[in-house]
Amino acid sequence: MDYDLIVIGSGPGGYHAAIRAAQLGLEVACVEKGDVGGVCLNVGCIPTKALLHVAHTLEEGKHASDYGVSFGEPTLDLKALEAWKAGIVKKLTGGVRQLFKGAKVELVEGEARFTDAHTLQVGDRKLSAKAFIVATGSRPISIPGFEIDGDRIVDSTGALLLSEVPKRFLALGGSAIGLEFADVYAALGSEVTVVELLDRIVPTADADAGKALHQALAKRGITIKTGTKAVSQKKTKAGTEVTVEGKDGKRDKIVVDKVLVAVGRAPNGKGLGLEEIGVVVDERGYVPTSDTMQTNVPHVYAIGDVARAPLLAHKAMKEGLVAAEHAAGKKVAYDTLVPAVIYTNPELASVGMTEAEAKEAGFDVRVGSFPLAASGRAMAMGVGAGMVKVIGDGATDLVLGVHIVAPGAGDLIAEAALAMEMGTTLEDLAATQHPHPTLSEGLMEAAEHAHGKAIHVANKRR
Ligand SMILES: Cc1cc2nc3c(=O)[nH]c(=O)nc-3n(C[C@H](O)[C@H](O)[C@H](O)COP(=O)(O)OP(=O)(O)OC[C@H]3O[C@@H](n4cnc5c(N)ncnc54)[C@H](O)[C@@H]3O)c2cc1C
Repeated sequence: MDYDLIVIGSGPGGYHAAIRAAQLGLEVACVEKGDVGGVCLNVGCIPTKALLHVAHTLEEGKHASDYGVSFGEPTLDLKALEAWKAGIVKKLTGGVRQLFKGAKVELVEGEARFTDAHTLQVGDRKLSAKAFIVATGSRPISIPGFEIDGDRIVDSTGALLLSEVPKRFLALGGSAIGLEFADVYAALGSEVTVVELLDRIVPTADADAGKALHQALAKRGITIKTGTKAVSQKKTKAGTEVTVEGKDGKRDKIVVDKVLVAVGRAPNGKGLGLEEIGVVVDERGYVPTSDTMQTNVPHVYAIGDVARAPLLAHKAMKEGLVAAEHAAGKKVAYDTLVPAVIYTNPELASVGMTEAEAKEAGFDVRVGSFPLAASGRAMAMGVGAGMVKVIGDGATDLVLGVHIVAPGAGDLIAEAALAMEMGTTLEDLAATQHPHPTLSEGLMEAAEHAHGKAIHVANKRR
């Protein structure tokens, strides 16, 4: 065998797996057909967050006059912005190459395909290994009639390229990707509309948190149409005319300059030769695994977006570590919570169950909430919209879920994730001193509220 382990794909899942396996003494290669760092570093998490930082800076500047500071009209140098964003990506992807070198992971550039259960074809090379980790990620899906042309109609990768700011921008899809780009383009000055098929944006989020985000984005001037289906589009003199249809069957037309199709992603499980070597790939292209990340063929692991939802980088990383450690002979299993964040302004972050999920699971739920309007720190930051909601088990007081809509909610949620991993109760959260004045106090206050002893809000138990 050429290697102990070959990882296919160098996204966050793949590169974490390759490095950890090498740290544990395995001879490792990582095959990558595209850009090192995968979707996350090149066209996903990182470049979107760079643009969102710009968006948040613009928003801050706009509202600074509320407290007596005026900057005047901002000017945008899109070439400089593009170069800055590209520079961050280059630094990080170069960093992964360096990490591979340091850990002695061989990077093999090319497309991998199984020719038998222990051999991959990569270009004209045949590479054999004792074990494999499939980390081939996912790709955007499109909707009929809205084929991506990279100009009028783009996917998330196209939306990252800012050669000009469209006057009117339409996001099809009201979940993380659609909303993050809606936020960016609104801050850059576009007139933004979001169309979501289901009855509310971020349908997987807790209903109260989703509502709070909806209100905050609407207040920023973003038009959100829920329960609305994009039916067709055509190019007209005025722009791209998109026909949408409400639940009542009533049709409407929205004319825009750019349409982002952000209706989901499909896993890259097909076309790798997996089925030919006996690995089960489901009809959608996911490669099912056990909690050790092994497929039904035990020496072939699958991690990240190609294995299962949620399609999030940190979940891919953790699964990568589990697969690598298991392949190196360690007794490990994947058994952790997955926090999720939408990096809009404000951010929506959550971990654990929504209130509806907890009720459906049969818990006698105990809920507490805290509006940011009652936070001294939020006030001092000029933040009005936002909330913290905690959900506990009425019988044991264990924390079942936390949902935060606030600036920096993505950072705040880490405390809740740790609390839940450690089996903390709402009482523990309420009893923990939180530094004052910080937004983190919201978590403590929401937990106090759940126990009817909040200081800054009325204690009406729900
Ligand atoms: C616009 C956008 C924003 C996002 N923002 C966030 C965020 O803020 N936070 C978050 O957690 N997640 C975010 N995500 C999701 C995140 O990017 C993915 O969950 C993550 O990249 C999945 O990692 P992965 O390792 O499974 O696969 P990927 O990152 O998709 O990497 C897979 C790699 O495998 C390679 N590959 C595929 N097939 C082969 C083959 N046959 N041979 C060799 N190589 C192959 C591909 O070229 C690719 O480089 C975002 C996604 C998008 C699109």
